[in-house]
Amino acid sequence: MAIVETRDIRKQFGEVRAVDGVSIATRDGEFLVLLGPSGCGKTTLLRMIAGLEQPTSGDVLIGGSVVTDLAPRERKTAMVFQSYALYPHMTVFNNIAFPLKAQGFPGGDIGRKVEWAASMFGIEKLLDRKPRQLSGGERQRVALARAMVRDPSVFLLDEPLSNLDAKLRNSARDELQQFQRQVGTTTIYVTHDQVEAMGLGDRIAVMERGVVRQLGTPQEVYDDPADTFVAGFLGSPPMNLVDGREEVVGFRPEKLLPKTIFRTQEGLIPLRFQVSRVENLGADRLLYGTLGEPFSGAKAIANLPYTLPVRIRPGEVHEFALREKDLRIFDRATGNRIPRNPEVERK
Ligand code: ATP
Repeated sequence: MAIVETRDIRKQFGEVRAVDGVSIATRDGEFLVLLGPSGCGKTTLLRMIAGLEQPTSGDVLIGGSVVTDLAPRERKTAMVFQSYALYPHMTVFNNIAFPLKAQGFPGGDIGRKVEWAASMFGIEKLLDRKPRQLSGGERQRVALARAMVRDPSVFLLDEPLSNLDAKLRNSARDELQQFQRQVGTTTIYVTHDQVEAMGLGDRIAVMERGVVRQLGTPQEVYDDPADTFVAGFLGSPPMNLVDGREEVVGFRPEKLLPKTIFRTQEGLIPLRFQVSRVENLGADRLLYGTLGEPFSGAKAIANLPYTLPVRIRPGEVHEFALREKDLRIFDRATGNRIPRNPEVERK
């Protein structure tokens, strides 16, 4: 177990600033997710932590020591990529044992360690098979077991579940989380999938164009995004952002609701909502429409739980409302969130 830290780390590929000054620190045993759109620098950051990429400037620390100039092997990190290459001619046992053999571990220890790692991922019955006799999910687990067998102090995962189909990915996510909690190894996990990030991470670092926009718990980055980028990246559909003259006002679709369902009128902003389209998603209903005063003419999306007994059809105008404390205000020029009167936010 160890704390991983980067200090103002940068990586420039020619003209491209892939990572542009990132300073983050995990907590011991934490599951930290690096989340961001394609090309934002997640993989490059992870590879610098692993030692597979030399930073242009800045440092990586593991367990309090600077490891910037150490080879990957000396950092005691284990990395699993999206395309986990198993050795096709070797059995599962030998695949998992490979890193131990390469390090000259004694034979008896190898057997015990392989069995331990295999049991962690529920693949102990597959040890005699070859990779081609395994499903995609099983192969993925073998790759994870192989990474884990060396007792790394840090586990680095780059979209390790993205080759699995949606259903399998859900269960693999669950297993991975349980496993990580059990072994308590500090884990950094790269993904562009916000649902995965929200479900897996103790904390999420949201990245854009080489910088970390916000580092916080899933709840923090969702409820209190640091800027309009984070507000728009998390949530499906994302936060509504309405342009004002100097400010941008943000509110989550699930906060825009029919006025009648609010228990108290205190702190409520009533507004008319002209609904143009209704999308039934099973558990939720998405309403697309246009707001009246005080957001005249702004387009917005409301997300109503299916259990809410109101009939709403396209073309209708309804009385909706927002609670003042659910508004998030951003500076229009910088996109940064403007903290407001704490009284309003606490209510
Ligand atoms: P994805 O989710 O698509 O994998 P990412 O967030 O992991 O994206 P990176 O792979 O870190 O992004 O890439 C960040 C930027 O650096 C991109 O613009 C990419 O084209 C560039 N880049 C990455 N590796 C190299 C390289 N070896 N040489 C040149 N440019 C690179």
